[in-house]
Amino acid sequence: MDALTSAIEARTEEIVALTQALVRIPTINPPGDAYTACAELLGQRLRRRGFTVQYIRAEGSPGDSPRYPRTNVLARLEGRRPGPCVHFNGHIDVVPVGEGWTVDPFGGGVHDGKVYGRGTCDMKGGLAAAVIAVEALVDSMPDWCGAIEISGTVDEESGGYGGVGYLARQGLLARPRVDHVIIPEPLNVDRVCIGHRGVWWAEIETLGRTAHGSMPFLGDCAIRHMGAVLTRFERDLFPRLAERSTRMPVVPQGAQRSTLNIDAVHGGLPDGLDGLPSAMVPDRCRMLIERRYLIEENLDQVRTEITDILDSLKAERSRFDYRLREVMEFPPTLTDPDLPVVRAVAAAVHDVLGRPAELVVSPGTYDQKHVVRFGHLNDCIAYGPGILDLAHQPDEYVAINDLVTAAKVMAMAAHALLSGAIARPLAAPGP
Ligand SMILES: [Zn+2]
Repeated sequence: MDALTSAIEARTEEIVALTQALVRIPTINPPGDAYTACAELLGQRLRRRGFTVQYIRAEGSPGDSPRYPRTNVLARLEGRRPGPCVHFNGHIDVVPVGEGWTVDPFGGGVHDGKVYGRGTCDMKGGLAAAVIAVEALVDSMPDWCGAIEISGTVDEESGGYGGVGYLARQGLLARPRVDHVIIPEPLNVDRVCIGHRGVWWAEIETLGRTAHGSMPFLGDCAIRHMGAVLTRFERDLFPRLAERSTRMPVVPQGAQRSTLNIDAVHGGLPDGLDGLPSAMVPDRCRMLIERRYLIEENLDQVRTEITDILDSLKAERSRFDYRLREVMEFPPTLTDPDLPVVRAVAAAVHDVLGRPAELVVSPGTYDQKHVVRFGHLNDCIAYGPGILDLAHQPDEYVAINDLVTAAKVMAMAAHALLSGAIARPLAAPGP
């Protein structure tokens, strides 16, 4: 193992250079710019290293167009003999730049041992570390068995349908082709992320009747009806959600609860009338809700909890009526800590850092949901360099030390998985 970790240390400059090269391609999503250029940068590098490289455009997926093609790259290398396949997946898209930068967001500048730029932390640094980890592993262990895959996928920041979701549905990031998946999202180098809470997005619309605003009693104000919904949420729902606890080790701790966010409320006259209102009773009001739920809950309960409130308002409140539109839903995922990829990465963290890994769960979803749901592959975790809180922030950076540490952990974990060196799990402790 010493040969492997020193091979990675010797490639520190290469990790930095690859991170910079990736960051300098502004793959901003939305709209999904420059995906092909970024996929080709990875594909060309890996093809030179002997990988079989495929470019897979997710035609017809949300946002895909001739101007903004959803181009994914999938590279595979076979070892000496057949064996398990370890897959590293990183998303190549980054969120828009936003305000407040003091450095060039696409410059990849290095200061004080850190690489700066949009996507350094989330997650081009992680992708670069995975590539170097694999290259070092293959060079140091010429007799390795099995297969290694690296994919660079699009659209994680907008749901991942054209990226991991697409590959998983095509059977490419799925069983039986792939056995173990590591997603180098930025979760701090000593943490192994074994899943995420579930999410249910829905739009509630209250219905009213329009009338002249000077005689609102002739109409029925949809916004007042929505106010009644919000009042009921405040009184009955938020306190109930805050009481629910979970065995999921979600970080930060505040997210070890069920949560509900009101993402948007729209009703009545549009914005931008410059103080020139027309006198109208609004007949429609829409509210988008984002409900994050726990492994102990299920979608039926989550949905019924909302419709029960709406139905009771319908019974109690004169002329109250509503529509509910379900927008998007992903169940919670929680990888069994006894599965090989969890044990391999946790053991490698311990070996490299000299302290035990912390097993955590993410408050929001990431591409693991597609691997589990469409790829039917539970042996999947997120592990990578970078500080979670810096993702999507101005002056985003990744520390070079963390890039190297994460590359060592990924290489050692992959080696253990490919060589079958992961010990069988201990029998579960008795009650
Ligand atoms: Zn990410």
